[in-house]
Amino acid sequence: MEETVKTPERRPYEIAPGIWRRDLPLAPGITVAVHVVRGPLGAVLVDTGSAGDHEAVLELLEAAGVRPRDVRVVLDTHKHHDHIGGNRQAKERTGALLAAPAGAVAWIEDHERHLREFAEHHPELLLPTAQERAELAATLDGEVAVELIAGEGFTLRLGDGIELRALALPGHVEDEIGLVERRSGALLIADAVPNVDWPLFHGHVEPAVLRATLARLRGLAHAARGPVSLAHRPVTDGAGLRETIAACEAFVDAVDEQLRAQLRAAGEQSCTLGQLWESACETFGRAREFRGLAMVDAHLRGLSADGLIARTAPDTYRWIAPRA
Ligand SMILES: [Zn+2]
Repeated sequence: MEETVKTPERRPYEIAPGIWRRDLPLAPGITVAVHVVRGPLGAVLVDTGSAGDHEAVLELLEAAGVRPRDVRVVLDTHKHHDHIGGNRQAKERTGALLAAPAGAVAWIEDHERHLREFAEHHPELLLPTAQERAELAATLDGEVAVELIAGEGFTLRLGDGIELRALALPGHVEDEIGLVERRSGALLIADAVPNVDWPLFHGHVEPAVLRATLARLRGLAHAARGPVSLAHRPVTDGAGLRETIAACEAFVDAVDEQLRAQLRAAGEQSCTLGQLWESACETFGRAREFRGLAMVDAHLRGLSADGLIARTAPDTYRWIAPRA
């Protein structure tokens, strides 16, 4: 938790030979990182930030000694607005091909759907105000066609042994990729380990899938020989990644246990998604917000899949496992 106290570096900086990062302001106390990776055969821009970040992204390229036209691929790690929001300007300025995981295509190509499924998934419980919706929409600069699907093993060779290989790291969202740069051993893993120390729930969509991804990342952390770059945290190393993973695992377990305890205590009585979400927000001191609502919903589906709770009506659940 201490590392979030550090002020992020707002100017572009090189995290490993040929790999440059810039932290873009996102919300009070929260930044999002974009990267450019450069080799003799061209460059790759990894994530594009929000719509208003285009100039900062161009400065990142300049700092890295990359002309916009040298960018061959713009690669989105996952579908969230703060990672894809500058896609159109990046694409227009560079002429690069746009690559993204298959599960990100719909939200990159259809922003109305993006807003609906991201922020309005349970309209009877929570709807953004017109202003909140407009602010979210303003982070997206334009819909762009995804030209390359980047899943596990997707590889970009930039020359001189500089090579980006994609790892499938689902859990924060259904489909997210991280990248290993072969020569430096750098790991660029965006939001694959969700932040657990924000005033809102950063969120994950499938606890079991996230746990499997965290286990995979722990193995990579043990073997890490380069820097580890998560989008919303300062650059760290393998040991730092292991600490971050442990904190995330503990948090996922705590959320799960809190929901179990609520449902167990209710006995024969059903609990609604709305009740359980509000209680989770209160227990963990987080804002009532759409990411957290989706996260609680995901945990309930997980508990249901594990045979611990039954769905008794839409968005309503009852404990069915032995109570001992
Ligand atoms: Zn995200």
